[in-house]
Amino acid sequence: CGIVGVVGTRNCTDILMQGLEKLEYRGYDSAGVFVTGSNKKSKLVKSVGRIASLREKIGIDVAGTAGIGHTRWATHGKPTEDNAHPHTSTSGRFILVHNGVIENFVELREEYLSNDVFKGETDTEIAVHLIAKFAEEDGLTTLEAFQKALKLIKGSFAFGLMDAEDPEVIYVAKNKSPLLIGLGDGYNMVCSDAMAMIRETSEFMEIHDQELVILKKNQVTILDAEGHEVKRPSYTAELDL
Ligand code: GLU
Repeated sequence: CGIVGVVGTRNCTDILMQGLEKLEYRGYDSAGVFVTGSNKKSKLVKSVGRIASLREKIGIDVAGTAGIGHTRWATHGKPTEDNAHPHTSTSGRFILVHNGVIENFVELREEYLSNDVFKGETDTEIAVHLIAKFAEEDGLTTLEAFQKALKLIKGSFAFGLMDAEDPEVIYVAKNKSPLLIGLGDGYNMVCSDAMAMIRETSEFMEIHDQELVILKKNQVTILDAEGHEVKRPSYTAELDL
């Protein structure tokens, strides 16, 4: 299982797909991508089985400057298209990928949401619906809604979140699942594994557990669990391809 995200100026579809192919070795049963851009035209494509079949489904008309992709290793819910990530909120505004296990998803669902908003059986879906609820019903910003959801969620996670209304930002957070930032010239990336980004960049920045990162094409902001900004140097890694 793995996550990849890119925000920049070039078409990112190929970068996402190559990233997912590099993550294949981690194991997966289904995969998906969400791609968008400054014109806010977006596409969500998911497929059960091989990354090659996702590639076929995508064809050539899925293009954009920002996106997130996911390879799933099912822990809750069968490997079906509905259960494949990215997951979306009912409004379609929020799009989310997740690696790991949300241990208290049943309790959170009972406390905050009605059962009919769920499209599949994953533990993950709770996260996107919680964020949507906090933003759309309680009026929080996307950042605040994500922070609030992260405070409630127990378990392991690497999250990538996008807001279709603001397609130049990817929000990420991690706890006990691997996730790393890749820095580029005019674009930035996030991925479970440096090897999946090494074709694009050799400059990386760590993300620590409990941190949230706001990723834009020319800016990376790391916030700790209290919302304070963390300054962290990047490092260069020379990996053998
Ligand atoms: N627990 C989530 C699911 O079953 C994420 C699995 C993963 O890490 O790929 O969908």
